[in-house]
Amino acid sequence: MHKSYAIGDSSLHVLKGIDLNVEEGEMVAIMGSSGSGKSTLLNIIGMLDEADSGEYILDGLPIKNLTEKKAAVYRNKFLGFIFQSFNLINYKTALENVALPLYYQGLKRKERQEKALFHLGKVSLADWAKHLPKELSGGQKQRVAIARALAANPKLLLADEPTGALDTKTSYDIMAFIQQLNDEGKTILMVTHEEDIANMCKRIVRLRDGVIMEDKKVNQVRAEQYV
Ligand code: ADP
Ligand code: MG
Repeated sequence: MHKSYAIGDSSLHVLKGIDLNVEEGEMVAIMGSSGSGKSTLLNIIGMLDEADSGEYILDGLPIKNLTEKKAAVYRNKFLGFIFQSFNLINYKTALENVALPLYYQGLKRKERQEKALFHLGKVSLADWAKHLPKELSGGQKQRVAIARALAANPKLLLADEPTGALDTKTSYDIMAFIQQLNDEGKTILMVTHEEDIANMCKRIVRLRDGVIMEDKKVNQVRAEQYV
């Protein structure tokens, strides 16, 4: 897979022949220095962006030339996202944030609320359902974001530096939760530049200047021992 960005008259070649296969149930850390193309790769995998050449196959489906509508259906069905900055909607409560993707699945209001509350419960935030993001701590906000990402039951959870804005203890809290999801079978792909976080995954893929320079299995360090 190749990807370049146009910058004025020139172009920046960011991904230079990425060849990556991830099986169902894996938990993979994508590492590399700033600017090495980690977010670009994750965004292509997440169907937020497209490669210039090469092919991308998600759950047996070639992701190519999809209409916006079809892309949205696939994204909703297959993919959940979490980000460093949480990306919650500020004027919506925790419950409303989690319920939002269910709206796009066509669920009725009551069903959306029930399902959202269930997922908030799974991240131990049922009591915080009516609170706004600004009333929550960083770790709580990320848990709401995780609940939102999981509400539509995606096959693949994509995380771009999910612990990047959190202190160490809160980071390990979040990692313990993500590991538990993986234990239950969810496939996880996460960008991080922290070695301790990467070692809590099961495989580390290192990018450098747009190519994979290392791809190795690791003995997963369990996060719950620190929380
Ligand atoms: P990482 O996540 O590893 O820090 P990115 O994938 O965000 O790296 O970016 C890789 C390179 O591509 C960087 O040099 C960045 O400035 C550039 N880049 C990323 N997105 C765009 C864009 N939309 N337009 C132009 N350049 C971009
Ligand atoms: Mg990035």
